[in-house]
Amino acid sequence: MTADVVVVGAGPAGSSIALRLCRAGVGVVLLERKRFPRDKVCGEYLSPGALAALAELGVDHRVASLGHPIRRVALSAFGHGPVIMSLPAGGALALSRADLDSLLRDAAIAAGAEPVDGIFLDLRAEGAGWRVSYRDSSGAARFCTARAVVGADGAWSSVARSAGLAGDTRRAGRWAVGGHVRSSEAQGDTLEMFVGTGGYYARNPLGGEHCNSMLVMPKPVADDARADAIVDEVTGGRYRFEGASLVKRVAVGPLRYAPDSVAVPGVALAGDAAGMLDPFVGQGVAVALESSASCAAGVIAHLAGAPARETVGAIRDARRRIERPRRLLAGAVDLIVRTPLLRALALRRARRDVAAAEMVLAAVAGAVPNAQTMSPVALVRLLA
Ligand SMILES: Cc1cc2nc3c(=O)[nH]c(=O)nc-3n(C[C@H](O)[C@H](O)[C@H](O)COP(=O)(O)OP(=O)(O)OC[C@H]3O[C@@H](n4cnc5c(N)ncnc54)[C@H](O)[C@@H]3O)c2cc1C
Repeated sequence: MTADVVVVGAGPAGSSIALRLCRAGVGVVLLERKRFPRDKVCGEYLSPGALAALAELGVDHRVASLGHPIRRVALSAFGHGPVIMSLPAGGALALSRADLDSLLRDAAIAAGAEPVDGIFLDLRAEGAGWRVSYRDSSGAARFCTARAVVGADGAWSSVARSAGLAGDTRRAGRWAVGGHVRSSEAQGDTLEMFVGTGGYYARNPLGGEHCNSMLVMPKPVADDARADAIVDEVTGGRYRFEGASLVKRVAVGPLRYAPDSVAVPGVALAGDAAGMLDPFVGQGVAVALESSASCAAGVIAHLAGAPARETVGAIRDARRRIERPRRLLAGAVDLIVRTPLLRALALRRARRDVAAAEMVLAAVAGAVPNAQTMSPVALVRLLA
């Protein structure tokens, strides 16, 4: 089999890049190891930034018809709160990843991407391109030759490893466990976030009968009794983990990953494969979708014969531009949450001046233009 480009992974990053490449007339094979619809560890919160990127891709109507509107975020931390903050105009959406990812993959296929069920194994330089080996759904070893490869296969990307873009080490980081829980609050419009010493817990109403219930903690827990105790502690007794009643249960960790580089000539990484953001700020899908434009443009330039230094540099710079302000803001929010004096100041201020807290939320949500996304003014105002 041959293609112009093999895209490995049909999550939001891979499918949105495949969609953009196909619309530009590029022949794409979209290789995915899981049968869709498939679940993915995620709070299933689509930020205003993610919604803007979905609108730019032209799939916003379909997303809106399946998603459930979220208008507010209620933040409780260390027994204080909740501080209830309105999301910027238009709000956010809750949408199961099974639905979101299928919808994006279907859009890529409708635009001409050829779906292939298989597990990526490795890639090797061959002629002016690459030989991509994979195992198909029957277990047979196969390969596809292509002039470029996109690794959109998530954190700890096999493509990154195979292309020499990432080391093999798993860094220490948080762990997550959760799923969908039947709840009388499933029709609500408020995402609840609780932070405590044991970690943080988010409850996101999905519409229908279920809420997304996600616990993130410093290390994996041995059993549901421990998870119950953490959720009980961080929510001040409001919720339990209810492990036995979770449907679509998922677990993952550690939640810290970054490759050494995001591109070499003819191979680009995208989405989580190019680096993972702490899920606290709910921006992973937005980053995956936003960076798909520059990644696709870099691949198209490579196919057109542009010098490797230019295409690789453009992909790296664009990724840095999109990711850096959010990473800095996520780090600053994390520092405030972890430092008793700062969080006491921030909480007191947020209760007195909800507008200041909403400015930070708008920045975290990616609802303000990129140059302001870091919004140090908002942070200073919150702590002043
Ligand atoms: C606990 C948690 C909560 C989160 N909550 C949110 C949230 O509320 N909102 C938000 O915006 N973001 C959230 N995120 C982040 C978000 O889930 C990711 O940033 C997003 O899924 C990245 O998309 P992706 O396409 O890069 O990767 P993925 O969605 O991981 O997709 C990668 C795809 O590659 C496939 N694949 C992997 N290996 C291979 C292989 N060898 N061969 C073939 N296919 C392969 C996988 O099956 C998968 O379909 C959260 C993350 C975590 C861990």
